[in-house]
Amino acid sequence: MAIRREDVLLVKAPDMNRRESVYLPEVFKGFGTTMRHFFTSFGGGKTSRTMQYPEQRREHLPVEKGGLEAKNFRGVHRLNRDEKGRVKCVACMMCPTICPAKCIHITAGESPWDDREKYPVKFEIDELRCIYCGMCEEACPVDAIELTPEYDIVGLTRQEMIFDKEKLLHVYDVTISKKPM
Ligand code: SF4
Ligand code: SF4
Repeated sequence: MAIRREDVLLVKAPDMNRRESVYLPEVFKGFGTTMRHFFTSFGGGKTSRTMQYPEQRREHLPVEKGGLEAKNFRGVHRLNRDEKGRVKCVACMMCPTICPAKCIHITAGESPWDDREKYPVKFEIDELRCIYCGMCEEACPVDAIELTPEYDIVGLTRQEMIFDKEKLLHVYDVTISKKPM
C-alpha cells in the first residue's frame, strides 16, 4: 500500500545552543564517564563492572523483596520429580501450547502408574530457541516444569542444547538444593 503524503511526519532536529555546537564539553563529559568505568573496573569490589568469567562467577543473583535469592531468576529448565522420584509431568500439553517460542516437544503415552492417565514418553526443550519467559512454569498445573538459577549451560552443537527428559530430570537432581520446590 502506498504511503500518502499527509501521513508522513517530518521531524526537525532541535537547534543546538552555542555550548552544544562546540561539541568539546560533551566530548570531555563522555570521556570522563569512560575513564570512571575504566578505573572502577580494575578496582575490584562492589564498584567493579568487570567479572573474570568463568574463573569468577556471579554466585549471588538479585535478591527479591522478602530476601529470597534467585526466586524469580529464569535459567535453564528442570523437570521436577514427585515424592517417589518419578517425573511429575502428566503430559497435559499446557506448556507446549502456551510456549511462545514453540520449543517444547512432548510425546504423551499411557501412564504405567495408577495415579495418572498420561505421562511424557518423550519431553524435549530446545534451550537455544527458548526465550526464558517463564510461561511454561506458570501454565503447569502440577508444578512439574520449573526454571532454575543455572545460567552457564554450554554445548558444542545445537543438538546438545536440546534437553531431553533424562537431562531435564538430571537438572532437577543438581538444582533441588539451590532451589527447593
Ligand atoms: S520459558 Fe517461555 S520460551 Fe522457554 S520453554 Fe518456557 S514458555 Fe517456552
Ligand atoms: S504443563 Fe506441566 S504437566 Fe503439563 S505437559 Fe507441561 S510440564 Fe507436563
